[in-house]
Amino acid sequence: MPYPTQPTASHFIDGAYVEDAGGEVIEVVYPATGAVIARLHSATPAIIDRALDAAARAQAEWATWTGTQRGRVLRRAADIMRARNRDLSVLETYDTGKPLSETLVADATSAADALEYFGGLAGSLTGEHIPLGGGDFVYTRREPLGVCVGIGAWNYPTQIAAWKGAPALACGNAMVFKPSEMTPLCALKVAEILHEAGAPAGLYNVVQGMGAVGAALVTDPRVAKVSLTGSVPTGRKVYAAAAAEMKHVTMELGGKSPLVIFADADLDSAVSGAILANFYSTGQVCSNGTRVFVERSIRPAFVARMIERLNAGVVMGDPLDEATNFGPMANAKQLAIVEGYIAKGQAEGATLAHGGKRVGNEGYYIEPTIFTDVTDDMTIAREEIFGPVLSVLDFDTEEEALARANATEFGLAAGVFTQDLTRAHRMVAGFQAGTCYINTFNLAPVEAPFGGVKMSGVGRENSKEAINHYSEVKSVYVAMNPCEAPF
Ligand code: NDP
Repeated sequence: MPYPTQPTASHFIDGAYVEDAGGEVIEVVYPATGAVIARLHSATPAIIDRALDAAARAQAEWATWTGTQRGRVLRRAADIMRARNRDLSVLETYDTGKPLSETLVADATSAADALEYFGGLAGSLTGEHIPLGGGDFVYTRREPLGVCVGIGAWNYPTQIAAWKGAPALACGNAMVFKPSEMTPLCALKVAEILHEAGAPAGLYNVVQGMGAVGAALVTDPRVAKVSLTGSVPTGRKVYAAAAAEMKHVTMELGGKSPLVIFADADLDSAVSGAILANFYSTGQVCSNGTRVFVERSIRPAFVARMIERLNAGVVMGDPLDEATNFGPMANAKQLAIVEGYIAKGQAEGATLAHGGKRVGNEGYYIEPTIFTDVTDDMTIAREEIFGPVLSVLDFDTEEEALARANATEFGLAAGVFTQDLTRAHRMVAGFQAGTCYINTFNLAPVEAPFGGVKMSGVGRENSKEAINHYSEVKSVYVAMNPCEAPF
């Protein structure tokens, strides 16, 4: 199937597309049809070596540029991305199956926001001056870490490549990025655009491959930092491998986030929140609020309105048709996982209130699904499904809702819908989660820190917080008087 922006080779290294047909073949499948739309090759050890060497070389040069010069490159890249938004969105749709109506507003645009935001910050990244007694002082230097490795999941391939690359580059680092082998195309465009915007050759490289390529990157001594977006089991492995060499890490991992809806909430607004929290990107969002705790008195009305809205509003179909707002799952494996959870939900006694079935004969479509009568111990209420499956759980009191919301190993996001101002703030103060929402859900503007606590991760992406995770501070003590010693 032809698509407009097909990359010309598997990897982008040292400012150019590079192929090494010796690497294992990666077939890129369009999730709407199951058709193979591209064949790429996994990185061989020689390719990995080339990428890391190029990154180390480019980083040494890039670190001598002023922050303003670095920022200019990032902001130019943001402009190019915005100008090519449609082509990049079509590519994202081919890569992930997400509807074009969504990719046009959420992917290259979000990547461009990150490049623009961190481009704007680059010139103001400074240390501080700390006066001490006797005229002595300390000043700090904010220094880059060196070569950073980014490893991405398959749900937001353009966004993840930029959310990691933009702060890394703003701080004076270089990056070698490995996309998920399920969605290998988009990150190549991020690399190409950064190069076109004036980044030195080798500053942002993309190498393809499965977990083994990621593992080779993580353990290489040339690498100073690893930022992973992925599942908790992968996070454990990558964190452990990085720890062996005392490397910096950012871990953006999975979740099973709670969304608590009180009886005083505006019902339609709460239903909108639950839709955003469960069905955007066909439910393949790490921060999804899949445990929807609804105060018992409004549960029937909430579920009825939810189903009404899905029946009236969901347009499932060709993701390239802009009328479509609900696409397929991103790959066959994930579809099978989701079907498995739906079967488990039924087997464990939850009520399938809506959806639950595959749709069509081709592609990986599944209906938006709602379970009611879900209890906290059921598998669908405990494990991350990463698909369009919403669980409704009843509750009676605020204390109970908060305790149950926090009774999970995850802590990525949490949300509350209520008109009671003080209760809203009490709830978010009590949530064990890195990202909280009051009367909305799942928005992730680049200006706000994003990340998890507990098993959901380490570190924060976006915002000024990300700067702390892509730079380190050198402390310099300056003596203004002769040095004295005890003997
Ligand atoms: P995986 O954990 O399976 O994979 C993530 C990435 O890590 C992939 O590129 C994968 O390569 C790579 N990888 C796998 N094993 C290793 C290893 N040993 N060393 C280094 N790299 C490795 O996640 P998915 O791609 O299935 O993505 C879904 C998960 O991502 C969900 O749990 C979701 O919650 C989470 N996620 C978190 C987000 C956040 O910001 N917190 C955002 C989006 C998703 P390959 O795929 O090629 O095997």
